Amino acid sequence: MTSNRRLLDDCFLTDKERMTHGEALALITERVAAVAGPETVPVTACEGRILAESVVAPMDVPLSDNAAVDGYAYASSSYEATGGFFPVVDRIAAGHPRHDPVPPGAAVRIFTGAAMPAGVDTVAMQEDCETHDQDRQAFVIVPPGLKPGANRRRAGEDLKAGTLVMGEGIRLRAQEAASLASFGRTGVQVRRRLRVATVSTGDEIVRPGAPIRPGQVYDSNQALLTALLAKAGAEVTDLGVLADRFDVIRDTLADAATRFDVIITSGGASRGEEDHVVTALDEIGRRHLWQIAVKPGRPMTLGQIGDCVFLGLPGNPVAVFACFLLYGLPLFARLEGAVWREPVRFPLPAAFEIARKKPDRREFLRGRLATGADGRLVVEKFPRDGSGLITGLREADGFIDIPEPVTAVAPGDLVSFVPFTGFF
Ligand code: AMP
Ligand code: MG
Repeated sequence: MTSNRRLLDDCFLTDKERMTHGEALALITERVAAVAGPETVPVTACEGRILAESVVAPMDVPLSDNAAVDGYAYASSSYEATGGFFPVVDRIAAGHPRHDPVPPGAAVRIFTGAAMPAGVDTVAMQEDCETHDQDRQAFVIVPPGLKPGANRRRAGEDLKAGTLVMGEGIRLRAQEAASLASFGRTGVQVRRRLRVATVSTGDEIVRPGAPIRPGQVYDSNQALLTALLAKAGAEVTDLGVLADRFDVIRDTLADAATRFDVIITSGGASRGEEDHVVTALDEIGRRHLWQIAVKPGRPMTLGQIGDCVFLGLPGNPVAVFACFLLYGLPLFARLEGAVWREPVRFPLPAAFEIARKKPDRREFLRGRLATGADGRLVVEKFPRDGSGLITGLREADGFIDIPEPVTAVAPGDLVSFVPFTGFF
Protein backbone atom coordinates (compact mmCIF):
# COMPACT_ATOMS: atom_id res chain seq x y z
CA MET A 1 0.00 0.00 0.00
CA THR A 2 1.34 3.42 -0.88
CA SER A 3 1.63 5.39 2.32
CA ASN A 4 1.87 9.05 3.00
CA ARG A 5 -0.29 9.87 0.07
CA ARG A 6 -2.22 13.07 -0.11
CA LEU A 7 -5.67 11.83 -0.50
CA LEU A 8 -7.38 15.14 -0.78
CA ASP A 9 -6.22 18.68 -0.84
CA ASP A 10 -6.64 20.34 2.55
CA CYS A 11 -7.64 23.57 0.94
CA PHE A 12 -10.85 21.97 -0.10
CA LEU A 13 -11.88 21.55 3.52
CA THR A 14 -15.00 23.55 3.79
CA ASP A 15 -17.55 24.50 6.36
CA LYS A 16 -19.99 25.41 3.68
CA GLU A 17 -23.36 24.09 4.77
CA ARG A 18 -24.17 21.87 1.84
CA MET A 19 -22.22 20.99 -1.23
CA THR A 20 -24.03 20.66 -4.52
CA HIS A 21 -23.97 17.39 -6.40
CA GLY A 22 -21.55 18.91 -8.90
CA GLU A 23 -19.18 20.13 -6.17
CA ALA A 24 -19.20 16.78 -4.38
CA LEU A 25 -18.50 14.94 -7.63
CA ALA A 26 -15.73 17.37 -8.59
CA LEU A 27 -14.14 16.95 -5.15
CA ILE A 28 -14.03 13.21 -5.71
CA THR A 29 -13.02 13.09 -9.35
CA GLU A 30 -10.49 15.91 -9.25
CA ARG A 31 -8.96 15.72 -5.79
CA VAL A 32 -8.79 12.07 -4.85
CA ALA A 33 -5.47 10.39 -5.62
CA ALA A 34 -4.86 6.78 -6.62
CA VAL A 35 -3.75 4.49 -3.80
CA ALA A 36 -3.92 0.99 -5.23
CA GLY A 37 -0.59 -0.32 -6.50
CA PRO A 38 -0.22 -2.68 -9.47
CA GLU A 39 -0.33 -6.47 -9.58
CA THR A 40 -0.29 -8.96 -12.43
CA VAL A 41 -3.34 -11.10 -13.15
CA PRO A 42 -4.03 -13.63 -15.89
CA VAL A 43 -5.73 -12.13 -18.91
CA THR A 44 -8.45 -14.72 -18.38
CA ALA A 45 -9.22 -13.14 -14.99
CA CYS A 46 -8.84 -9.45 -15.78
CA GLU A 47 -12.48 -8.56 -16.43
CA GLY A 48 -13.55 -5.52 -14.40
CA ARG A 49 -10.02 -4.65 -13.26
CA ILE A 50 -8.28 -1.33 -13.86
CA LEU A 51 -5.37 -1.42 -16.27
CA ALA A 52 -2.08 -0.30 -14.67
CA GLU A 53 0.17 -0.32 -17.73
CA SER A 54 0.25 1.02 -21.26
CA VAL A 55 -0.25 -1.83 -23.68
CA VAL A 56 1.54 -1.77 -27.03
CA ALA A 57 0.90 -4.40 -29.69
CA PRO A 58 4.10 -6.47 -30.00
CA MET A 59 3.07 -7.94 -33.38
CA ASP A 60 0.74 -7.40 -36.29
CA VAL A 61 -2.74 -8.78 -35.68
CA PRO A 62 -3.41 -10.80 -37.69
CA LEU A 63 0.17 -11.86 -38.22
CA SER A 64 -0.31 -12.84 -41.88
CA ASP A 65 -2.62 -12.01 -44.75
CA ASN A 66 -5.33 -14.64 -44.69
CA ALA A 67 -8.52 -15.73 -46.38
CA ALA A 68 -11.80 -14.26 -45.07
CA VAL A 69 -13.92 -16.98 -46.75
CA ASP A 70 -13.72 -20.52 -48.03
CA GLY A 71 -12.95 -20.35 -51.77
CA TYR A 72 -10.22 -20.00 -54.35
CA ALA A 73 -7.25 -17.64 -54.15
CA TYR A 74 -5.62 -16.23 -57.25
CA ALA A 75 -3.59 -13.22 -58.41
CA SER A 76 -5.76 -10.32 -59.53
CA SER A 77 -3.24 -9.64 -62.29
CA SER A 78 -3.90 -13.09 -63.83
CA TYR A 79 -7.65 -12.67 -63.37
CA GLU A 80 -7.88 -10.19 -66.20
CA ALA A 81 -5.44 -12.15 -68.34
CA THR A 82 -7.25 -15.52 -68.01
CA GLY A 83 -10.82 -14.24 -67.64
CA GLY A 84 -11.01 -16.03 -64.33
CA PHE A 85 -10.14 -19.55 -65.46
CA PHE A 86 -7.44 -21.14 -63.30
CA PRO A 87 -5.90 -24.53 -62.67
CA VAL A 88 -6.14 -25.35 -58.94
CA VAL A 89 -2.64 -26.30 -57.85
CA ASP A 90 -2.92 -26.69 -54.07
CA ARG A 91 -5.27 -26.90 -51.11
CA ILE A 92 -4.48 -24.66 -48.13
CA ALA A 93 -6.34 -25.14 -44.87
CA ALA A 94 -6.11 -22.87 -41.82
CA GLY A 95 -2.98 -23.69 -39.83
CA HIS A 96 -1.25 -25.32 -42.80
CA PRO A 97 0.48 -22.53 -44.73
CA ARG A 98 1.99 -23.08 -48.18
CA HIS A 99 5.55 -21.83 -48.30
CA ASP A 100 6.12 -21.74 -52.05
CA PRO A 101 4.64 -18.95 -54.14
CA VAL A 102 1.64 -19.83 -56.29
CA PRO A 103 2.74 -19.77 -59.94
CA PRO A 104 1.28 -17.02 -62.16
CA GLY A 105 -2.04 -17.98 -63.74
CA ALA A 106 -2.82 -20.61 -61.10
CA ALA A 107 -5.26 -20.66 -58.15
CA VAL A 108 -5.33 -22.53 -54.83
CA ARG A 109 -8.25 -23.92 -52.89
CA ILE A 110 -8.21 -21.98 -49.60
CA PHE A 111 -10.20 -21.98 -46.36
CA THR A 112 -11.19 -19.22 -43.94
CA GLY A 113 -8.25 -18.17 -41.77
CA ALA A 114 -5.62 -19.89 -43.91
CA ALA A 115 -2.55 -17.77 -44.64
CA MET A 116 -2.51 -16.34 -48.16
CA PRO A 117 0.58 -17.71 -49.92
CA ALA A 118 2.82 -15.45 -51.98
CA GLY A 119 1.62 -15.01 -55.54
CA VAL A 120 -2.11 -14.57 -54.82
CA ASP A 121 -4.02 -11.60 -53.46
CA THR A 122 -7.75 -12.24 -53.98
CA VAL A 123 -10.22 -14.90 -52.86
CA ALA A 124 -13.40 -15.83 -54.70
CA MET A 125 -16.10 -17.35 -52.49
CA GLN A 126 -16.64 -21.01 -53.20
CA GLU A 127 -20.40 -20.44 -53.61
CA ASP A 128 -19.68 -18.15 -56.58
CA CYS A 129 -17.23 -20.49 -58.35
CA GLU A 130 -17.62 -23.40 -60.71
CA THR A 131 -15.12 -26.20 -60.77
CA HIS A 132 -14.46 -29.00 -63.17
CA ASP A 133 -11.80 -31.59 -63.75
CA GLN A 134 -9.98 -32.09 -67.00
CA ASP A 135 -7.31 -34.76 -67.46
CA ARG A 136 -7.15 -35.24 -63.67
CA GLN A 137 -6.45 -31.53 -63.18
CA ALA A 138 -8.99 -29.42 -61.32
CA PHE A 139 -9.93 -26.04 -62.74
CA VAL A 140 -11.95 -23.22 -61.22
CA ILE A 141 -14.03 -20.60 -63.02
CA VAL A 142 -14.19 -17.38 -61.03
CA PRO A 143 -17.13 -15.05 -61.78
CA PRO A 144 -16.44 -11.60 -63.22
CA GLY A 145 -16.51 -8.38 -61.18
CA LEU A 146 -14.33 -9.31 -58.21
CA LYS A 147 -12.17 -6.46 -56.98
CA PRO A 148 -8.46 -7.06 -56.47
CA GLY A 149 -7.87 -7.98 -52.82
CA ALA A 150 -11.47 -9.14 -52.24
CA ASN A 151 -12.03 -11.48 -49.29
CA ARG A 152 -8.48 -11.08 -48.10
CA ARG A 153 -7.72 -9.96 -44.54
CA ARG A 154 -4.50 -8.01 -44.32
CA ALA A 155 -1.74 -8.63 -41.80
CA GLY A 156 -2.02 -5.92 -39.14
CA GLU A 157 -5.51 -4.83 -40.20
CA ASP A 158 -6.77 -5.23 -36.64
CA LEU A 159 -3.59 -3.89 -34.98
CA LYS A 160 -0.20 -2.88 -36.34
CA ALA A 161 2.88 -3.87 -34.32
CA GLY A 162 3.89 -0.90 -32.17
CA THR A 163 0.39 0.59 -31.83
CA LEU A 164 -0.61 1.85 -28.37
CA VAL A 165 -3.65 -0.32 -27.81
CA MET A 166 -4.80 0.63 -24.30
CA GLY A 167 -3.77 3.30 -21.84
CA GLU A 168 -3.61 3.08 -18.05
CA GLY A 169 -6.75 3.60 -16.07
CA ILE A 170 -9.33 1.93 -18.25
CA ARG A 171 -11.62 -0.76 -16.88
CA LEU A 172 -10.93 -4.03 -18.66
CA ARG A 173 -13.89 -5.75 -20.24
CA ALA A 174 -14.27 -8.98 -22.21
CA GLN A 175 -13.32 -7.02 -25.35
CA GLU A 176 -9.99 -5.92 -23.84
CA ALA A 177 -9.26 -9.47 -22.65
CA ALA A 178 -9.81 -10.69 -26.21
CA SER A 179 -7.56 -7.98 -27.59
CA LEU A 180 -4.74 -8.78 -25.12
CA ALA A 181 -4.99 -12.46 -26.01
CA SER A 182 -4.93 -11.63 -29.75
CA PHE A 183 -1.30 -10.61 -29.48
CA GLY A 184 -0.34 -13.39 -27.14
CA ARG A 185 -0.49 -11.78 -23.71
CA THR A 186 -1.09 -14.18 -20.83
CA GLY A 187 -0.85 -11.69 -17.97
CA VAL A 188 -1.69 -8.03 -17.51
CA GLN A 189 -0.85 -5.41 -14.88
CA VAL A 190 -3.88 -4.11 -13.06
CA ARG A 191 -4.49 -2.13 -9.90
CA ARG A 192 -4.85 -4.32 -6.87
CA ARG A 193 -8.35 -4.54 -5.47
CA LEU A 194 -9.34 -1.95 -2.89
CA ARG A 195 -9.75 -3.31 0.63
CA VAL A 196 -13.07 -2.06 1.87
CA ALA A 197 -14.68 -2.44 5.30
CA THR A 198 -18.42 -2.09 5.69
CA VAL A 199 -20.02 -1.05 8.96
CA SER A 200 -23.72 -0.88 9.78
CA THR A 201 -24.82 1.28 12.68
CA GLY A 202 -27.97 1.53 14.74
CA ASP A 203 -29.36 0.04 17.95
CA GLU A 204 -32.41 -1.12 16.00
CA ILE A 205 -30.45 -2.98 13.30
CA VAL A 206 -30.25 -6.77 13.45
CA ARG A 207 -28.64 -9.14 11.03
CA PRO A 208 -30.73 -11.57 8.99
CA GLY A 209 -30.50 -14.96 10.67
CA ALA A 210 -31.28 -13.53 14.09
CA PRO A 211 -34.88 -13.29 15.32
CA ILE A 212 -36.49 -9.87 14.98
CA ARG A 213 -38.51 -8.10 17.67
CA PRO A 214 -40.85 -5.13 17.40
CA GLY A 215 -38.88 -1.95 16.86
CA GLN A 216 -36.04 -3.73 15.11
CA VAL A 217 -35.06 -3.58 11.47
CA TYR A 218 -33.14 -6.15 9.50
CA ASP A 219 -29.86 -4.91 8.08
CA SER A 220 -30.37 -4.57 4.35
CA ASN A 221 -27.53 -2.13 3.78
CA GLN A 222 -24.93 -4.78 4.44
CA ALA A 223 -26.36 -7.01 1.68
CA LEU A 224 -26.79 -4.03 -0.62
CA LEU A 225 -23.26 -2.73 -0.14
CA THR A 226 -21.67 -6.17 -0.36
CA ALA A 227 -23.33 -6.75 -3.73
CA LEU A 228 -22.44 -3.28 -5.02
CA LEU A 229 -18.85 -3.57 -3.82
CA ALA A 230 -18.47 -6.94 -5.51
CA LYS A 231 -19.61 -5.32 -8.75
CA ALA A 232 -17.11 -2.52 -8.17
CA GLY A 233 -14.34 -5.11 -7.83
CA ALA A 234 -13.48 -4.44 -4.18
CA GLU A 235 -12.41 -6.89 -1.48
CA VAL A 236 -15.05 -6.55 1.21
CA THR A 237 -14.76 -7.16 4.95
CA ASP A 238 -17.88 -6.89 7.06
CA LEU A 239 -17.29 -5.29 10.46
CA GLY A 240 -20.80 -5.97 11.70
CA VAL A 241 -23.45 -3.77 13.27
CA LEU A 242 -22.32 -1.11 15.72
CA ALA A 243 -24.44 0.24 18.53
CA ASP A 244 -25.28 3.95 18.57
CA ARG A 245 -22.43 4.73 20.96
CA PHE A 246 -19.77 7.29 20.31
CA ASP A 247 -16.88 5.34 21.83
CA VAL A 248 -17.79 2.11 20.06
CA ILE A 249 -18.01 3.84 16.70
CA ARG A 250 -14.83 5.88 17.22
CA ASP A 251 -12.75 2.90 18.33
CA THR A 252 -13.99 0.64 15.54
CA LEU A 253 -13.30 3.26 12.88
CA ALA A 254 -9.87 4.10 14.29
CA ASP A 255 -8.85 0.46 14.26
CA ALA A 256 -10.32 -0.23 10.80
CA ALA A 257 -8.53 2.78 9.35
CA THR A 258 -5.19 1.05 9.92
CA ARG A 259 -6.28 -2.03 7.98
CA PHE A 260 -8.39 -0.87 5.04
CA ASP A 261 -8.24 1.49 2.09
CA VAL A 262 -11.84 2.53 2.56
CA ILE A 263 -14.41 2.32 5.34
CA ILE A 264 -18.06 2.64 4.41
CA THR A 265 -20.59 3.14 7.18
CA SER A 266 -24.34 3.36 6.89
CA GLY A 267 -26.60 5.11 9.36
CA GLY A 268 -25.91 7.55 12.18
CA ALA A 269 -24.72 10.09 9.64
CA SER A 270 -26.72 13.11 10.77
CA ARG A 271 -26.02 15.29 13.77
CA GLY A 272 -28.79 13.99 16.00
CA GLU A 273 -28.21 12.89 19.58
CA GLU A 274 -28.03 9.29 18.41
CA ASP A 275 -25.80 9.94 15.42
CA HIS A 276 -22.13 9.57 16.25
CA VAL A 277 -20.42 8.85 12.97
CA VAL A 278 -19.55 12.43 12.01
CA THR A 279 -18.46 13.33 15.53
CA ALA A 280 -16.24 10.27 15.65
CA LEU A 281 -14.71 11.15 12.29
CA ASP A 282 -14.05 14.70 13.47
CA GLU A 283 -12.19 13.39 16.50
CA ILE A 284 -9.97 10.83 14.78
CA GLY A 285 -9.77 12.04 11.20
CA ARG A 286 -10.69 14.80 8.83
CA ARG A 287 -13.95 15.63 7.18
CA HIS A 288 -13.89 16.84 3.60
CA LEU A 289 -17.55 16.83 2.88
CA TRP A 290 -20.66 16.56 4.95
CA GLN A 291 -24.13 17.29 3.75
CA ILE A 292 -24.94 17.46 0.10
CA ALA A 293 -27.87 19.31 -1.44
CA VAL A 294 -29.11 16.07 -2.92
CA LYS A 295 -32.15 13.87 -2.38
CA PRO A 296 -31.72 11.11 -1.39
CA GLY A 297 -28.44 11.27 0.46
CA ARG A 298 -28.24 14.64 2.19
CA PRO A 299 -26.14 13.69 5.24
CA MET A 300 -23.42 11.87 3.30
CA THR A 301 -19.90 12.31 4.65
CA LEU A 302 -16.54 11.98 2.96
CA GLY A 303 -13.35 12.16 4.94
CA GLN A 304 -10.22 10.35 5.89
CA ILE A 305 -8.78 8.71 8.96
CA GLY A 306 -5.05 8.61 8.45
CA ASP A 307 -4.60 7.18 4.97
CA CYS A 308 -7.97 5.48 4.98
CA VAL A 309 -10.84 7.01 3.06
CA PHE A 310 -14.04 7.32 5.00
CA LEU A 311 -17.42 7.29 3.31
CA GLY A 312 -20.32 7.77 5.70
CA LEU A 313 -23.62 6.97 4.06
CA PRO A 314 -27.09 7.71 5.41
CA GLY A 315 -29.04 4.81 6.89
CA ASN A 316 -31.89 4.56 4.44
CA PRO A 317 -31.26 1.87 1.83
CA VAL A 318 -32.36 4.07 -1.07
CA ALA A 319 -29.86 6.73 -0.01
CA VAL A 320 -27.15 4.09 0.39
CA PHE A 321 -27.80 2.83 -3.12
CA ALA A 322 -27.92 6.31 -4.67
CA CYS A 323 -24.86 7.62 -2.82
CA PHE A 324 -22.86 4.54 -3.70
CA LEU A 325 -23.60 4.83 -7.39
CA LEU A 326 -23.33 8.61 -7.58
CA TYR A 327 -20.27 9.13 -5.35
CA GLY A 328 -18.93 5.75 -4.20
CA LEU A 329 -18.21 4.47 -7.70
CA PRO A 330 -16.35 7.61 -8.85
CA LEU A 331 -14.44 7.55 -5.56
CA PHE A 332 -13.41 3.94 -6.07
CA ALA A 333 -12.46 4.63 -9.66
CA ARG A 334 -10.16 7.47 -8.58
CA LEU A 335 -8.60 5.42 -5.76
CA GLU A 336 -7.81 2.77 -8.36
CA GLY A 337 -6.31 5.31 -10.73
CA ALA A 338 -9.16 4.89 -13.16
CA VAL A 339 -10.75 7.47 -15.35
CA TRP A 340 -14.32 8.18 -14.19
CA ARG A 341 -16.77 8.70 -16.96
CA GLU A 342 -20.19 9.96 -15.98
CA PRO A 343 -22.92 7.62 -17.20
CA VAL A 344 -24.84 8.74 -20.26
CA ARG A 345 -28.11 10.56 -19.59
CA PHE A 346 -31.04 10.00 -21.93
CA PRO A 347 -33.66 12.72 -22.39
CA LEU A 348 -37.05 10.98 -22.16
CA PRO A 349 -40.63 12.19 -21.80
CA ALA A 350 -41.89 12.04 -18.22
CA ALA A 351 -44.91 9.82 -17.63
CA PHE A 352 -45.42 11.50 -14.25
CA GLU A 353 -45.88 14.86 -12.66
CA ILE A 354 -44.00 16.67 -9.93
CA ALA A 355 -46.19 19.53 -8.78
CA ARG A 356 -43.56 21.18 -6.60
CA LYS A 357 -39.86 20.61 -6.01
CA LYS A 358 -37.53 22.65 -3.86
CA PRO A 359 -35.05 24.62 -5.94
CA ASP A 360 -31.33 24.35 -5.08
CA ARG A 361 -31.63 20.65 -4.50
CA ARG A 362 -30.74 17.95 -6.98
CA GLU A 363 -33.07 14.97 -6.92
CA PHE A 364 -32.41 11.45 -8.12
CA LEU A 365 -35.75 9.70 -8.34
CA ARG A 366 -36.32 6.05 -9.06
CA GLY A 367 -37.41 5.71 -12.68
CA ARG A 368 -38.69 2.89 -14.81
CA LEU A 369 -38.78 2.69 -18.58
CA ALA A 370 -42.17 2.09 -20.16
CA THR A 371 -43.88 2.37 -23.52
CA GLY A 372 -46.12 5.40 -23.85
CA ALA A 373 -49.51 5.52 -25.60
CA ASP A 374 -47.87 6.51 -28.89
CA GLY A 375 -45.48 3.55 -28.68
CA ARG A 376 -42.50 5.66 -27.70
CA LEU A 377 -40.23 5.21 -24.73
CA VAL A 378 -41.21 7.16 -21.60
CA VAL A 379 -40.01 7.14 -18.02
CA GLU A 380 -42.24 6.47 -15.06
CA LYS A 381 -41.50 7.52 -11.51
CA PHE A 382 -41.93 5.22 -8.53
CA PRO A 383 -45.05 6.77 -6.98
CA ARG A 384 -43.88 6.74 -3.37
CA ASP A 385 -40.95 8.86 -2.28
CA GLY A 386 -39.78 7.28 1.00
CA SER A 387 -36.09 6.56 0.95
CA GLY A 388 -36.62 3.43 3.02
CA LEU A 389 -38.61 1.77 0.25
CA ILE A 390 -36.44 -0.93 -1.28
CA THR A 391 -39.36 -1.92 -3.53
CA GLY A 392 -38.91 1.30 -5.49
CA LEU A 393 -35.26 0.48 -6.04
CA ARG A 394 -36.11 -3.00 -7.14
CA GLU A 395 -38.66 -1.81 -9.67
CA ALA A 396 -36.44 0.93 -11.04
CA ASP A 397 -34.21 0.79 -14.13
CA GLY A 398 -32.36 3.99 -13.34
CA PHE A 399 -32.41 7.45 -11.85
CA ILE A 400 -34.45 10.37 -13.04
CA ASP A 401 -31.98 13.21 -12.54
CA ILE A 402 -33.81 16.44 -11.72
CA PRO A 403 -31.39 19.39 -11.64
CA GLU A 404 -31.45 22.04 -8.93
CA PRO A 405 -33.33 24.84 -10.71
CA VAL A 406 -36.26 22.66 -11.83
CA THR A 407 -39.26 23.24 -9.55
CA ALA A 408 -41.92 21.23 -11.39
CA VAL A 409 -42.26 18.53 -14.01
CA ALA A 410 -45.34 18.11 -16.19
CA PRO A 411 -46.22 14.90 -18.04
CA GLY A 412 -44.45 14.91 -21.39
CA ASP A 413 -41.58 17.15 -20.23
CA LEU A 414 -38.20 15.77 -21.18
CA VAL A 415 -36.35 14.51 -18.12
CA SER A 416 -32.85 13.15 -17.81
CA PHE A 417 -32.81 9.38 -17.31
CA VAL A 418 -29.64 7.58 -16.16
CA PRO A 419 -29.79 3.77 -16.37
CA PHE A 420 -28.26 2.01 -13.37
CA THR A 421 -26.28 -0.12 -15.80
CA GLY A 422 -24.47 3.02 -16.97
CA PHE A 423 -22.61 3.22 -13.68
CA PHE A 424 -20.79 -0.09 -13.87
P1 AMP B 1 -30.01 6.84 10.47
O1 AMP B 1 -29.21 7.45 9.34
O2 AMP B 1 -29.18 6.02 11.38
O3 AMP B 1 -30.82 7.86 11.15
O4 AMP B 1 -31.00 5.84 9.76
C1 AMP B 1 -32.02 6.27 8.88
C2 AMP B 1 -33.01 5.17 8.62
O5 AMP B 1 -32.35 4.09 7.99
C3 AMP B 1 -33.60 4.59 9.90
O6 AMP B 1 -34.96 4.34 9.66
C4 AMP B 1 -32.85 3.31 10.09
O7 AMP B 1 -33.57 2.34 10.81
C5 AMP B 1 -32.57 2.87 8.67
N1 AMP B 1 -31.38 2.06 8.62
C6 AMP B 1 -30.18 2.38 9.13
N2 AMP B 1 -29.30 1.41 8.90
C7 AMP B 1 -29.95 0.45 8.21
C8 AMP B 1 -29.57 -0.81 7.69
N3 AMP B 1 -28.33 -1.26 7.82
N4 AMP B 1 -30.51 -1.54 7.03
C9 AMP B 1 -31.76 -1.07 6.88
N5 AMP B 1 -32.17 0.11 7.36
C10 AMP B 1 -31.28 0.86 8.01
MG1 MG C 1 -29.32 5.20 13.17
